[in-house]
Formats: sequence, structure tokens, C-alpha cells
Amino acid sequence: MPPLWIVPNRLFSRLYCGLKSPISTQTKICLTMARPSSNMADFRKCFAKAKHIVVISGAGISAESGVPTFRGEGGYWRKWKAQDLATPQAFARNPSQVWEFYHYRREVVQSKEPNAGHLAIAECQARLHRQGRQVVVITQNIDELHRKAGTRNLLEIHGSLFKTRCTSCGVVAENYKSPICPALSGKGAPDPQTQDAGIPVEKLPRCEEAGCGGLLRPHVVWFGENLDPAILEEVDKELALCDLCLVVGTSSVVYPAAMFAPQVSARGVPVAEFNTETTPATNRFRFHFQGPCGTTLPEALAPHETETVS
Ligand SMILES: [Zn+2]
Repeated sequence: MPPLWIVPNRLFSRLYCGLKSPISTQTKICLTMARPSSNMADFRKCFAKAKHIVVISGAGISAESGVPTFRGEGGYWRKWKAQDLATPQAFARNPSQVWEFYHYRREVVQSKEPNAGHLAIAECQARLHRQGRQVVVITQNIDELHRKAGTRNLLEIHGSLFKTRCTSCGVVAENYKSPICPALSGKGAPDPQTQDAGIPVEKLPRCEEAGCGGLLRPHVVWFGENLDPAILEEVDKELALCDLCLVVGTSSVVYPAAMFAPQVSARGVPVAEFNTETTPATNRFRFHFQGPCGTTLPEALAPHETETVS
């Protein structure tokens, strides 16, 4: 089941209401389309004209870099899926176990590199910036691979594996230490037979703010938690401004594309989905390109013949 319930009703309804506000009376609304096109030449015409592009990315683009998602078939850490461990309840019950899980993920991700899809987005962003055009990336991925690829204008709506938040003073800090604390060294093995490390709470990552020393947690949005309203506000702004939207590596029935992309589509703005699969939502968008992002994106985002500044 997709984690739709990550979004509180309040925000859901706010975003839903947002569908109506950006539509001007002149806007031609086309909510349903018979079939999305997979004509790259037609997409490239939209791309050439676009001044403000929004890219919404999800787990699929990370999976192409070998980042495990802990969802779906075989997606387990020990005997759990992400939704068992990525919750405030799991952290309250067993902070050592949750930190082992995140320590493992940090270590794995630090050994991974952005793929051709990440690089195509970053390169396109830098190139279009020189032409006075904007590319904004809204990602639900917490692995920072977009950042590592050089992407700058980035909204990480689910936080980052490489940020911590203090459970006492609330301070958010970048943290790339490996291991994050001595007690987690060599811990976090994913095999189902592995014993819990049972690290005492005082040996888990602790806040370094003067006089605090509180327990740190990963600065990621867990199941059942709210997304940062300030970031959602920025997302809303970008969705209202964009004149082309790419949905990359995330099925459009799953949050956030399920809410964000239709909001854009409802204004008559072209939405292009790049995914390894089709979904029932695919038919709501103008374009669908099936295949790995590392194959489809470099072609889609390459310099267009009409670009005057490279
Ligand atoms: Zn603190």
C-alpha cells in the first residue's frame, strides 16, 4: 500500500484546494486524456519552450543507482520493511534498532553514485540556468543523490539520511560521519539472523549543541508524521509557476506525484512521466516514457537545437 497516509488530512485538503486557484479563465482544462504520447519529438517541443520546469522524483531513480527501498518484494531489512521501522513509535520503542537501520542505509548510500538520470537533470538545470530558465527538483528521496549529482534547486520533502534532528532542542544539523557514532560501528547488518545490537540510549548519536546532549534522530519524515509546511508551501508555489512537469521514477498513484502532478496537469500544463511501468494515472498525463530514467532522461533533457546558450 503506498504511504498516502503520511499526509495529514489538513495538508491533503489544502493541496487539493490548490488545484483550483491557479487556473485562469483562459486556461483550457483537459483533465483526462485518452492516452499519453510517447513521442519524444513532441515532448522536446514542449521542453524547448519551457521556462520553469519542475521535476518530481521518487524511489525509482535511486533504485537505478542500487539504493535499496525496503518496499515491495524482497525489500526487507532483517525481517522488517521500511514502514515497520520508519515510525515515531518504532523509535520510541527501540531507538537502537531504528538507528541501526538508518546507520546501515547511510553507509550503503555513501557507497552509491548518481546515475545517468540524476546527472541529466543536474546538467540540464545548470545549462538552462545560464539561459535564464529554471529547473526545480522536488524529491521524496532521502539519499541526496540529486545533490551529489550537482542539483542545486532542490526540495527534499522527506528530509535526508544525512541530517539529524535533536529530540530535545530540535536543532537540525548535517551529518556525514561514518559511522555516525562509535557504538554503531560494524552494526546494522541487514540479514534476518542478525541480533539486535541493543545499544544503550546514551551511546546512540547525541546532540552536540552546548549544554544539550539530547538524543538525535534522523531528520526524515516518518510514516504518520507531517511534512514540513514551509517546504510544502514552496512546493505549491513551484507547481503553480511551472510550465512543464516531469514525474521521474515514481508511479503517479503514489504520493507525492499522485497529488502534485495532477495539480499541474489540471492547469493544462504538460506533464511527462518517466517510469519503468505504466499506472492507471498515466492516462492523465500528456507524455509517458517507459524505461529506466538513466536511459530516457539523457535523451529527453539533452540540449535542444533552439537553445542559444549552452
Ligand atoms: Zn539538542
